[in-house]
Amino acid sequence: MKIMKFGGTSVGRPERMHRVAELVIAQQEPVLLVLSALSGTTNALVAIGESLSLGKKEEAKDRIAVLQQHYHDFVRGLLQQDNNLLEADQILSEHFGLLDMICQVSYSEALNRDILAQGELLSTKLFCVYLREIGVNHVFLNALDFMCIDENDEPRLDAIRHGLSPSLHTGVGKLFVTQGYICRNAKGEVDNLKRGGSDYTASLLATAVNASVCEIWTDIDGMHNNDPRIVDRTRPVEQLSFEEAAELAYFGAKILHPASIWPAQQANVPVRLLNTMEPGAAGTLITERSLGRGVKAVAAKDGIWAIRIKSSRMLLAYGFLRKVFEVFEKYRTPIDMVTTSEVAVSVTIDSDAHLSEILTELGSFSAVEVDADQCIVSVVGQEIGRENGVLQDLLRSIGMIPVRMISHGGSPHNISLLVDAGRKKELLQQLNQGLFGL
Ligand code: ADP
Ligand code: ASP
Ligand code: MG
Repeated sequence: MKIMKFGGTSVGRPERMHRVAELVIAQQEPVLLVLSALSGTTNALVAIGESLSLGKKEEAKDRIAVLQQHYHDFVRGLLQQDNNLLEADQILSEHFGLLDMICQVSYSEALNRDILAQGELLSTKLFCVYLREIGVNHVFLNALDFMCIDENDEPRLDAIRHGLSPSLHTGVGKLFVTQGYICRNAKGEVDNLKRGGSDYTASLLATAVNASVCEIWTDIDGMHNNDPRIVDRTRPVEQLSFEEAAELAYFGAKILHPASIWPAQQANVPVRLLNTMEPGAAGTLITERSLGRGVKAVAAKDGIWAIRIKSSRMLLAYGFLRKVFEVFEKYRTPIDMVTTSEVAVSVTIDSDAHLSEILTELGSFSAVEVDADQCIVSVVGQEIGRENGVLQDLLRSIGMIPVRMISHGGSPHNISLLVDAGRKKELLQQLNQGLFGL
């Protein structure tokens, strides 16, 4: 069985959904299909939730009406037969009815997560109506019946495997359709795997069913060597190791959810990044080993805070780092980069959810300075940390851009720089030229 995951833009227009069906039907082996919400839907649902959280019910209702009209038009492009249109309209009534109802009751975080789940439920149900219209046998699977996370928001792989297995062995079909992104949490409530989480669903399912391959279909021909939204000349990377891909995903390559590599890596399922708009393109193949040498790609992660923690003694006393790290552990805040000097340590975090508590506690035994709006730029490639000349090329490419931190040697596959977010574009462009000659 293979996993095929299609992102928002791949299903965002009726003709694209038709294309997805063609691609799926052409497969020889059984397919577990994972769909995202239509592009723009999750953003719209986030906005609806925000309006409700601020008590702006009329604004929320207006936003729901705009979204409903979009779906009304969408199904008319998707389907031709009246009975199928009727069924699609019933699906819309059910889900938009739920949104309307949520507007009537008082707001809660749990209800907000229900709102966010509607996008993937809609896209998969509408896709299944289209499959029926063109006479393709399939099985609809509700991810809320088997995708689950624990109290630390970590996926429960065994439970997912056990929950899914009976449905796949009914012998009914060779095409199974389910939702990305959505799941149930430890309390049994509707929850999600965070923005972009459909990639994570795909990878978790690839492991759960021991798939032959996990295909991530999107709107670009694979992982590029640099961020194509920012840098003009980028090119697809043919092959990456799981480690290289995981570093790129974690450090900002939006094409993959930050956590989406480890599940596939665990079961050694190859991941392929493919372009729905250009299915013949080679894309990127992600496997255990890295083929080729040198720098493979550069990625950037925004929204970073850098904290410099200076020991109140002259030297970094024995036990000082432990005390520092314990504060971050207490507030369950992961640290991305660390650099140390004789008297100070600098760390970066990507969330300010507990920043003030962290600063207060650190301040009780050290002097603390914070820089917001920082950006981590990571240069990734197998063993580049040990390869002669890479660091030299990298430092030369940085030119006059001020660098707040450099991290080299933590992972042999990654060298990271911390710069002011305002210098990101310039740095990515200079690296593109200095490291790739583009
Ligand atoms: P989907 O909706 O299919 O999940 P995403 O928008 O999440 O698609 O991811 C694809 C987008 O990621 C591309 O359109 C591209 O703009 C962006 N992107 C950022 N960095 C990279 C990169 N290094 N390689 C390829 N795409 C990237
Ligand atoms: N629909 C969700 C989002 O936009 C999940 C995904 O597309 O991967 O974040
Ligand atoms: Mg995505």
